[in-house]
Amino acid sequence: MAMKNADYLLKNAALLTLDEQYHTYEPGALAIAGDSILAVGPEQQIAEQYRANETIDCAGKVLMPGLVNAHTHVPMTLLRGLADDLRLDVWLMGFIMPVERQFVSPEFVRLGTQIACLELIRTGVTCFADMYYFEEHVARAAAEIGLRAVCAQSILKFPTPDAQFFEESLAAAHEFIEKWKGHPLIVPSIGPHAVYTCTDEILQATVELALKFDVPLQIHIAETALEEENSRSEYGMPVVPYLKKLQLFDAKVLAAHCVHIDEGEMNTLLHYQAGVAHNPSSNLKLASGFAPVSKMLDIGLNVGIGTDGPASNNDLDMFEEIRLAALLAKNVSNDPTALPARTALSMATRLGANALHIGDITGTLEPGKRADLILVEMTGLHASPRFRRDPNGLYAQLVYTGKSNDVRDVMVNGRWLMRDRQIIGQDENELLRQADEYARQIDAFLIRREKSVLSKLIAIGGTVEEESFEVQAKVRVQDPKPVLEALEKPGLEILRTRHYHEFDTYFLFADPEMGTLRYREDEFITADGQASQARYRLTLIGAAREHHFRSDVLLSRSRYLAPATYSMRFYREYFKPFDEVSIEKDRQRWRVIFRGTEFYINLDRLDHPNLGYFLEVKSRTWSRRDAEHKANVAEELLEFLSASQGERVTKDYLDLARPPHSYV
Ligand SMILES: [Zn+2]
Repeated sequence: MAMKNADYLLKNAALLTLDEQYHTYEPGALAIAGDSILAVGPEQQIAEQYRANETIDCAGKVLMPGLVNAHTHVPMTLLRGLADDLRLDVWLMGFIMPVERQFVSPEFVRLGTQIACLELIRTGVTCFADMYYFEEHVARAAAEIGLRAVCAQSILKFPTPDAQFFEESLAAAHEFIEKWKGHPLIVPSIGPHAVYTCTDEILQATVELALKFDVPLQIHIAETALEEENSRSEYGMPVVPYLKKLQLFDAKVLAAHCVHIDEGEMNTLLHYQAGVAHNPSSNLKLASGFAPVSKMLDIGLNVGIGTDGPASNNDLDMFEEIRLAALLAKNVSNDPTALPARTALSMATRLGANALHIGDITGTLEPGKRADLILVEMTGLHASPRFRRDPNGLYAQLVYTGKSNDVRDVMVNGRWLMRDRQIIGQDENELLRQADEYARQIDAFLIRREKSVLSKLIAIGGTVEEESFEVQAKVRVQDPKPVLEALEKPGLEILRTRHYHEFDTYFLFADPEMGTLRYREDEFITADGQASQARYRLTLIGAAREHHFRSDVLLSRSRYLAPATYSMRFYREYFKPFDEVSIEKDRQRWRVIFRGTEFYINLDRLDHPNLGYFLEVKSRTWSRRDAEHKANVAEELLEFLSASQGERVTKDYLDLARPPHSYV
């Protein structure tokens, strides 16, 4: 038989194909021509058939498919270590997104991707699935370095670093996909971020685009219990059926996380051949829960393994993820035989490639597939000795003792990217210097922001900035009856009456110049005494009184008022107040015209702490002269309400309610 030509012949290897039958050869050999694998098999058989330009002796090494990182956001290498040990919403909305809005640009994305690619190569990854902004620049940097990637342009309903409106990012995605479709290394894709960050309209538009170009669609699904709860209360069903209703699964879906899904949802994913990306480190670090990985594999889903973004993980080390996936699955199912090493490794190779919908070209060492492979050294101290009795021993050795720096050589698409731990043609130090420069600028930005509560408020999207000046007088009232009777008298025109139950939480800061932040939950009380329509508002109260008129009428200023869009827990964790005071009160409120001036009259009963009744009269004002005038009318109004003789109070409820120790 005539010898056939190959570019490379890799021989004398412990060869794991990780194909469906888990063929192994030792000594094994593999022949490569151009970008593809020509043949795989026992060394003797392959060596007899192929003559290669270069023959490589792989003694002491495992030859296996390159690892597939099934879910990440690679440019976030530049945000690694920015903020840690926080809850997902505080981390994302409080730190990552504000910094991204300020710093993420095509240059940022390019640098972050370059650094990520070098880390991926060093740790044996030949292919990754990515979702980020300016995704074309991820694709470009990855292609230049030579890695394979499925790159999704992210789409969100909020303004993002690359789009003020989602239509812009959708248009960018369209152009990106059209331009990159058919590239030898890059599969363009689209990434509606998640059900809670997109609208139905966005989700449907992305499906349309994915179908039009037959490209994968990447999305986060059921990452947290909260997402699942919200989906049930908002749509009356869990996330997967809801997305099914929107026909999302008509596209080739890669679903990241799937932590909180049940068997019915798994079957839906299977029915539509959706891939799943399991992210053990990210789920553990953010305490998102435990994905039902063994069950998903049992029913036949293609479950890959991902690192998630390096800002949440915080690295791109797939060896660590594979080991964690195996260990977690055992504990979740209370069964040490669950998810054996061999299966774990197949998740990081064949199943991962299938999940990315590119299983036809990569993920295993089989003839016809692209030459995406790695050589892993098995002679280190931690990898010794080697038992050869059980062929599965090699899988266990890789998963339980293998380290990412055992990876010596990496080839993608028939081209060497790393030989003998030397990455070819890249200047690591220069990239790291540039990354440090970004870190310095981001630190400075955050230090500036942390100096004021107002700038922290604005950073989380509180765009309603409003200063309001008020003339106010407050009187302690023994009995509310005379006031209620006075309100009936002629001379006062009542425009509106309201009744509320108010729960106020004041956040106090060590530096009084920061002001005080009040989180108010208002329950509207109907005429028949029922509570309805809770409202949540946030007010930043300035540090000092503006002015003090004669007879204790005050001019005060509140610097900011906005609907509270996050939970109180979020604000507490984000602002980290030095102290908190809670006040609960019953408030009857009238908007009135008195002597030609508009006033608010509040008749308050402080229930917690129990401080009795107070009467407040307030009027908005904009100038000193107007304030002077309104202070006089306020005095008259108090007299009209039979309250001018009561004890005048110049303190806020906060100061009245505050325990004495807070004064120090
Ligand atoms: Zn993610």
